[in-house]
Amino acid sequence: MKKETKTNPLLEFIDRSPTPFHAVQEMTDYLSGKGFNELNEADSWDLVPNGKYFLTRNGSSLIAFTVGSKPEFKIIGAHTDSPNLRLKPNAGYTKSGYQQLGVEVYGGVLLSTWTDRDLSLAGRVILAGKKKPSSKLIRFDQPLLRIPQLAIHLNRDVNKKGLILNEQNHLPPIFSLKKKSSPDEILKKMVAKELKCKPADITGLELSLYDTQPGTLAGPEGEFIFSGRLDNLASCHSAMQALAESTKKDPATRVIAFYDHEEVGSETAQGAGSPFLKDVLERIVLKEDRETFFRAMANSFFISADMAHAVHPNYSEKHDAQHMPIINSGPVIKSNANQRYATEGLSSAWFEMLCKKAGVPVQKFVVRSDLGCGSTIGPITAANLGIRTVDVGNPMLSMHSIREMSGTKDHEYMIRVFKEFFRSATG
Ligand code: ZN
Repeated sequence: MKKETKTNPLLEFIDRSPTPFHAVQEMTDYLSGKGFNELNEADSWDLVPNGKYFLTRNGSSLIAFTVGSKPEFKIIGAHTDSPNLRLKPNAGYTKSGYQQLGVEVYGGVLLSTWTDRDLSLAGRVILAGKKKPSSKLIRFDQPLLRIPQLAIHLNRDVNKKGLILNEQNHLPPIFSLKKKSSPDEILKKMVAKELKCKPADITGLELSLYDTQPGTLAGPEGEFIFSGRLDNLASCHSAMQALAESTKKDPATRVIAFYDHEEVGSETAQGAGSPFLKDVLERIVLKEDRETFFRAMANSFFISADMAHAVHPNYSEKHDAQHMPIINSGPVIKSNANQRYATEGLSSAWFEMLCKKAGVPVQKFVVRSDLGCGSTIGPITAANLGIRTVDVGNPMLSMHSIREMSGTKDHEYMIRVFKEFFRSATG
């Protein structure tokens, strides 16, 4: 018997979002359905009080907001990208009787998890236009590719020494067997058929590999979620849902900001290092004077939401003994003395208060003192905006694997805390 929980919409959202382009498309469809109006950065904006809006950059980053009456922003930030393998521009080649596609590694991929999977392709196709190029989303549903592991008979030490994968030599997936047409020609034809255009119209492919196996609830009580891209589409989903369902009038302007390119450093036109959010916040208060903008920034609060490391029972020594987040025990506040996370004492206290008000348990994480610490968009946006920030996220295992693992309850908890944030005064 399948348990009905809020997790099912999450699984559907992730399954429909194999790339950041698809994730943003999904979110714009969802927000449009909830009465949000699309804005274009190139147009002049005429925002009305209590109006609901969204806009995108490059089709892979998104900001949505509801206009409040007070100079104050309540912001939740997250990222739309996940580590994966991406096709090179001239991807196709033939080797040892096989047709293969060359791939680049995007972000910190846990490479071994991409082997022996039923992989397919999704992303954006660039089409030549009469005046300027345009783009269209594409997604092949059927498995098209595989990165087969070497048989154990030919790699006898693999269980003792671990699987060593050279990115250039060992990752190109098998596409087909040698034939007259080149793999690039075959792929272009398949794309053209799917998009109902001519192969000659296609000038570029921005395609990523993805796992065709859909996400699922798991465990005796459906307590776990097994899926790709939980980092960080689970955070996007909870924040988006909280914003759309926070319909009670709030004097503060509520904002969600989801960025591409977090996994590769955020320094791009649509990344967290860009002026995207600052531009939007300035335009929201543009009709008022400049001082109102600065007052609004000083009154504001930013929750940087990204997944956190749950303790792994087989490797519990990898965690500090006092900081071992457990799945389904609530959101995790992440801090780091060297500011790899933007959390400080007061922002941490604010978030704890929100959890308490929402009736949600809360946990804390700090990395072992002898291990390096990951980072998030938190410190980047905090440095850009000067807004008080807390870094939080739900606990998970297998981060950056092709198939990650998190908790069903935690997702509901996070939605509740985010709704509380959009309802409560943050001072
Ligand atoms: Zn992340």
